[in-house]
Amino acid sequence: MTIEEHNHLIFEYDEVDKDISSMIIQIAEDMYDRLMSQFELSDLEGKYTLTICPDIKTFIEKSGKSEETYQSWMVGNANRKNHSLCILSPRIVSDRSLDDMLRVVKHEVTHIALNALNPKDPDDMSMCLTEGIAVYMAEQIYPNQLDITDYPSVKELDNEEFFYEHDGYNYSGVYVGFLIRKYGAKAFRNVYAETEHFDDYLYDGYEIDAIKSFGVR
Ligand SMILES: [Zn+2]
Repeated sequence: MTIEEHNHLIFEYDEVDKDISSMIIQIAEDMYDRLMSQFELSDLEGKYTLTICPDIKTFIEKSGKSEETYQSWMVGNANRKNHSLCILSPRIVSDRSLDDMLRVVKHEVTHIALNALNPKDPDDMSMCLTEGIAVYMAEQIYPNQLDITDYPSVKELDNEEFFYEHDGYNYSGVYVGFLIRKYGAKAFRNVYAETEHFDDYLYDGYEIDAIKSFGVR
């Protein structure tokens, strides 16, 4: 594996992925810059390593999964404890476009950069908040899959099982995106840092307004 240290992150990739890696490095570093300025983040102590995994075996190892817990939809991972993030090389992912995979890079970088706001492991935080911001910033919202008459509430999405069963990624992206659109980056920053609560900004009809703000009628 080749190792390159950049401004915000250390990158690790196999020679066979050299071309695609230079694209990923650029996207990851630019995303990090954007997050830092939008949410006034400081740099983290100690750089995280982003591994572009040449095969599934490497992905399982780097993401801390096992043969049993790994599932084929998993293509990216961010791990605070290990100071690492990884994505599967787009070269070997056949069911997603390169653009989709570059969004996964932005998603995982968002998880990591925001660690600067809260000392907690994101796994122990509100799933609606942590996944929602990563989905929103990575532009992984699909408005045509939202339903304005039958939707999960912000609170319900804090339940992990419920989250997975109710298109939680898409809806949490919408709800957190709306928080930023309506109340600004500062509001999000405070909620993520837990100096304020998401509840403080919710009202009857919040979810509907959020869905509408993404063009759904
Ligand atoms: Zn995520």
